[in-house]
Amino acid sequence: MAGLADHLRRRIEAQGPLSVADYMEDALGHPRYGYYTTRDPLGAAGDFITAPEISQMFGELIGLWCVVQWRSMGAPAPVLLVELGPGRGTLMADILGAADGAAPEFTAALRLHLVETSPTLRAAQAKTLSTVRPAPAWHGRFEEVSDGPLIVIANEFFDALPVRQFERSGQGWRERLVDVDGDGFRFVLSAPLEAPPPLPPGLGRVAEGDVTEVSPAGLDLAAAIGGRLAATGGAALIIDYGHGQSAVGDTLQAVKGHAYHGVLDSPGEADLTAHVDFAALGQAAGHAGAAVFDPMGQGAFLEALGLGARAAALIGQATPDQAREIAAARARLTGSMGEMFKVMAISSPGLPPPPGFD
Ligand code: SAH
Repeated sequence: MAGLADHLRRRIEAQGPLSVADYMEDALGHPRYGYYTTRDPLGAAGDFITAPEISQMFGELIGLWCVVQWRSMGAPAPVLLVELGPGRGTLMADILGAADGAAPEFTAALRLHLVETSPTLRAAQAKTLSTVRPAPAWHGRFEEVSDGPLIVIANEFFDALPVRQFERSGQGWRERLVDVDGDGFRFVLSAPLEAPPPLPPGLGRVAEGDVTEVSPAGLDLAAAIGGRLAATGGAALIIDYGHGQSAVGDTLQAVKGHAYHGVLDSPGEADLTAHVDFAALGQAAGHAGAAVFDPMGQGAFLEALGLGARAAALIGQATPDQAREIAAARARLTGSMGEMFKVMAISSPGLPPPPGFD
């Protein structure tokens, strides 16, 4: 049996069925066998592709967003640029390239902080960003990033944070748990909970059989970001797929080789994600003292930042084949992906709305 499945089986035998969050945390982040620990999952040869891997335009526009945001913060120097889950470092390289062209005084003031747990991806980031001076600092957790005015970027990060799932039954709420089942795993339900679970804000009526998800790690992180922004000034841009309004539904999914996969079939060998509940994150950041700008579609956000003009400029210098690729990338970033993916901004109170949100 594969390493992680074996580990999970022993854990369940010792302590009983695991919460979905514990399962997800081990599957993705186990220090020896976790999915992200053991591989670079991005790109055609991997399991999935992300916006910065589709086109440089994505990171370039976010680089210009950072410059405008930094100026509206009063151009502090130094300023921390923090990326959560930087993957291969592609997004950050494109951000820095565009920002340096537009405002070298911004890149001169930058101190780069990368929050990443995967040793494999840290190595990829170090390679992609090898010319950055001063060299980036890596952290396992956002809370370890040093103090100071900051800009935080997270693309497809919150969807990887573990969720707990609760199901409404005739006897009240029960938690969905993962148990062993022969050679594999299966979902079971806990006994009815004595107290209702922490339900997302604004969740309407819940019917028997409905499932709701909560990401304690996501909420803690949103509160930590909100608190830091309120205390030292700055802004955060969170991009992910999910819902603007909290809703019921089981959104846990696994992807392997660019196709859907059973969520319990190959722990540690498939990516696991859940939709991001932006309303819940926004509420946590707001309670911590930050200003929250409601999520908008990624497509509308990128167009508002000038995607059309950037694509036209690139196409002007491109071969016909490259021009077709650029047009296709724009359509991909703004089409169905541009609806499904949302962008939320959080800032210290008192700043003008961030670019794209004005
Ligand atoms: N932002 C990149 C990569 C997205 S994949 C892109 O858009 O291409 C998710 C990233 O988050 C990976 O770098 C993964 O290793 C990292 N990650 C996942 N869970 C994490 C956690 N709990 N703490 C820190 N990094 C994590």
